[in-house]
Amino acid sequence: MKDLIIIGAGAIGSAAARTLAQYELDILVLEKESDVGEVTSSANSAIVHSGYDPVPGSEKAAMNVRGNLLYDQMCEELDIDMRKIGSLTIATNDEEVEILRGLEERGRQNGVPVQMLNREETLALEPNLTPEVKLALLAPTAGIVNTFELSVALMENAMDNGVKLNLNEAVTGIRAIEGGYEVTTNRAVYQTRAIVNAAGLFSDEINNFVNPVKYEIQPRKGEYFVLDHFDPDFIRHTIFTVPSSKGKGILVSPTTHGNYILGPSAEFVEEKDDYSTDGETLAQVLATAKKLVPSIPMNQVIREFSGLRAVEKSGHFIIEESLPGFVNLVGIQSPGLTSCPAIAEEVVKFLSNTMEMKKKADFNPRRRPMVRLNRMTPEERAEFVKKNPKFGNIICRCEMVSEGEVLDCIHRNCGAATIRGVKRRVRPGMGKCQGGFCQPRIIKILARELGIKNEDVRMKSPGSFILMGETK
Ligand SMILES: Cc1cc2nc3c(=O)[nH]c(=O)nc-3n(C[C@H](O)[C@H](O)[C@H](O)COP(=O)(O)OP(=O)(O)OC[C@H]3O[C@@H](n4cnc5c(N)ncnc54)[C@H](O)[C@@H]3O)c2cc1C
Repeated sequence: MKDLIIIGAGAIGSAAARTLAQYELDILVLEKESDVGEVTSSANSAIVHSGYDPVPGSEKAAMNVRGNLLYDQMCEELDIDMRKIGSLTIATNDEEVEILRGLEERGRQNGVPVQMLNREETLALEPNLTPEVKLALLAPTAGIVNTFELSVALMENAMDNGVKLNLNEAVTGIRAIEGGYEVTTNRAVYQTRAIVNAAGLFSDEINNFVNPVKYEIQPRKGEYFVLDHFDPDFIRHTIFTVPSSKGKGILVSPTTHGNYILGPSAEFVEEKDDYSTDGETLAQVLATAKKLVPSIPMNQVIREFSGLRAVEKSGHFIIEESLPGFVNLVGIQSPGLTSCPAIAEEVVKFLSNTMEMKKKADFNPRRRPMVRLNRMTPEERAEFVKKNPKFGNIICRCEMVSEGEVLDCIHRNCGAATIRGVKRRVRPGMGKCQGGFCQPRIIKILARELGIKNEDVRMKSPGSFILMGETK
């Protein structure tokens, strides 16, 4: 019998896995996709929220504020790209000024540093903002994170410390048995003393297999534009509109790689796999973003995408031990990314009710750092390439990614095995040409390194073919 099965390897499941890897437990993570962080954890705004917005006293507020505090150490230990650039929430009329004052008060109640700035102070920080700005709420502890790297780094470190990950394995049933649970998947049947349900959009279904109290997730879609990196000083903070009942509102923000994102919308949808984008919604996103930053250069748009928030009917984060040894992490919508290290701490508390939590003597909290050629000076890069020539062979010209970086991301624990896996780890395909130049090269490298045929390389899931066979 296993000690623990974690269902789902998004940011929440991966953070739980990494935190629990500190203990002497036999842990298996089951993930139905071909990679970690493949679902909501890689399709979001990637903001480390400061925590001024959630209702004081709520679980969301507690997890957000604690999560934000834990982020610095977590990202430093795991070499995750994260920067606390601060956020500015903008009011352009009297009604919004009132809302902003309420948010300032909430921030104080949540223990989050916030500061009101007048028009001149705001425009001095962000000259490209609308001159209509009346007041802005500065939250200096807000940050941006490489959301693709987050789940990968957490899981890599968990695996370095003994956690086992099975990809392409979907949980199809759970039943209570003497001393634990029986978990059925598309590939096997397992017995385990405890379960952590971190299945995101499907966490209601996992809960409903075994818990008499039923939950219901309704997906709420957010659509975005992504802009190329054109001017690092165009916008320096994350800029928010004032939030509404639908969510945190539209933002304009730099990303950790110097791109900009605009979005998200917030509309409920029926299907948990509806990632379509539509012109009408995106036009509304753009109109709102332009009210904040009128000079957004739309000729820099390189992509649109959408993500689905896992909204439980109650609207709350459900973080509880629902049955002995069955820990539910249900309805973890925004600020879930920010909250993931804090939620992981809660999981440890719940599991200590069921099992002995003995710390390992040899837990290593650090991940081997990534090679980041684009952060080196030309001299450092030349020196590095002299010693490691594969880092001089550029595979992606838009993002300047070398063969050495691609090889490294394939051969780590929790390594990339698909084109999207490589793209999300080291960025070939993220640039202006969206993979037109680099994708054939990535296919060849993956095939060579994984010992498979070119036509067996997949975009992401097992059915996502790229090549059908050789023509010449
Ligand atoms: C539009 C949008 C914007 C957001 N912006 C932010 C933000 O700026 N800051 C922030 O803090 N948060 C943000 N969030 C929220 C954040 O993205 C989520 O809270 C977080 O990613 C949830 O992580 P998760 O691990 O619970 O879910 P997921 O990443 O969806 O992971 C769940 C995993 O479970 C797997 N799974 C499901 N069913 C099964 C099964 N039967 N068997 C095995 N595996 C299964 C899935 O394949 C998936 O990989 C945003 C969300 C959205 C949609």
